[in-house]
Amino acid sequence: MPTLKDREVGIFFWAEPDALATIRTLKSCGVTSGQLGVDGGVKLTPETAASWSAAMEAEDFHIYTVFAAYEGESYADIPTVERTVGFIPRATRAAREIRTKEVIDFGAALGVKSFGCHVGYIPHDASHPDYVDVRDMVRRIADYAAGAGMTYCLETGQEPAAQLLQFFEDAARPNLKINFDPANMILYGSGEPIEAFRLLRQHVISVHGNDGDWPDPATPGALGTERPLGQGSVNIPKFVATLRETGYNGPICVESGVHGEEQRWQALSAAVALLNSLR
Ligand code: MG
Repeated sequence: MPTLKDREVGIFFWAEPDALATIRTLKSCGVTSGQLGVDGGVKLTPETAASWSAAMEAEDFHIYTVFAAYEGESYADIPTVERTVGFIPRATRAAREIRTKEVIDFGAALGVKSFGCHVGYIPHDASHPDYVDVRDMVRRIADYAAGAGMTYCLETGQEPAAQLLQFFEDAARPNLKINFDPANMILYGSGEPIEAFRLLRQHVISVHGNDGDWPDPATPGALGTERPLGQGSVNIPKFVATLRETGYNGPICVESGVHGEEQRWQALSAAVALLNSLR
């Protein structure tokens, strides 16, 4: 795989059935790298891995993280996220651990060096049974990823940075890292993103180029609003300046808050151009 430039701008994208067409569309937006999201419905057969490997090779495209999303997750509002996302829901915890290992195996077959996912809303109380079980599951997954030569990234946002840091330090695995998403901090009302980045900086190995506005305080439980990059409340120029200033040289991966097929690709191209002008 090609190596990455400092603060190389890539795109977060989902695994579609046609790997080669997906990668060619990404390259038309001006990137040669990114993060591959694998939702719960994707069948992870040897043929799926072979088609992605062949497409990456043919197009000289670098995938540095595979992300897992799980069947039954919904991001409708904060109570729904609490109930459905990540490792927190007890009913799906064991099945999601099996699926997580399958996604790690899939990433390893592609030569990808990092795995990431949302673990969900971690309880504040470190003696809560869900906190303990999820922390232990994170340890097992980190160890499994280490066996495949991969890091395991926690995605930020569903808790304040100080709480994530406490959980991260408690999980205590050398290959456990952080994928920092500045927009999530705002969308979940978890705290000012640039301050949060500085607190977590030493553990961050990848960041999302993502923007959004704060939740409406008049609607309890509402998430904030995703926005096209540069048009939300993150302050993208200041965020990228902070990346540089703190010596962050890892990738910046655009996540689009724009929906609709045509509009989404236009927004991704515009976001890539904006970040390349700032990085
Ligand atoms: Mg993100």
